Amino acid sequence: PQPVLAVVGRPNVGKSTLVNRLLGRREAVVQDQPGVTRDRVSYDALWNGRRFTVVDTGGWEPSAKGLQAAVAQQAEMAMSTADAVLLVVDAQVGATATEEAVARVLRRSKRPVLLAANKVDDERTHADAAALWSLGLGEPRPISGLHGRGSGDLLDAILDVF
Ligand code: GDP
Ligand code: MG
Repeated sequence: PQPVLAVVGRPNVGKSTLVNRLLGRREAVVQDQPGVTRDRVSYDALWNGRRFTVVDTGGWEPSAKGLQAAVAQQAEMAMSTADAVLLVVDAQVGATATEEAVARVLRRSKRPVLLAANKVDDERTHADAAALWSLGLGEPRPISGLHGRGSGDLLDAILDVF
């Protein structure tokens, strides 16, 4: 069976946009309003001749109420079902209490964890990405799901940890 990458993070950080970018096609539903639940969350991806499955956990997206606990639970679920976890953070917003809670969960993970500093649309916001070293999840990888910046490097890093 092909390896599975679970994409976790708060609503509206750009998980679905990034998933589409990783797939090279628009399949995951992008929402301007957070918290929309869908049933289909698994997609087949192909990079450098290797196949893997991407799970957009946006399908389990919680309401704003109890967000922190729900996203932490999403991370637990991801760790137990996936071969690697990608935490997506909106670098323009930075690490909130929710990301800190999720990072605490993910630091216990036996599976590899990658950190995407999303919405780094240009050079100016690179410093925002570096600030995410504070989460203790290793190197924040600057990316713009919207424009595609950094996506090749992220895909290489994903295949490296499988
Ligand atoms: P999700 O709730 O985490 O799945 O987030 P979505 O992918 O639905 O995106 C939420 C909003 O953020 C949408 O309005 C996207 O267009 C926007 N967005 C996503 N990625 C980027 C990015 O790299 N840069 C910018 N500026 N906006 C983005
Ligand atoms: Mg989504």
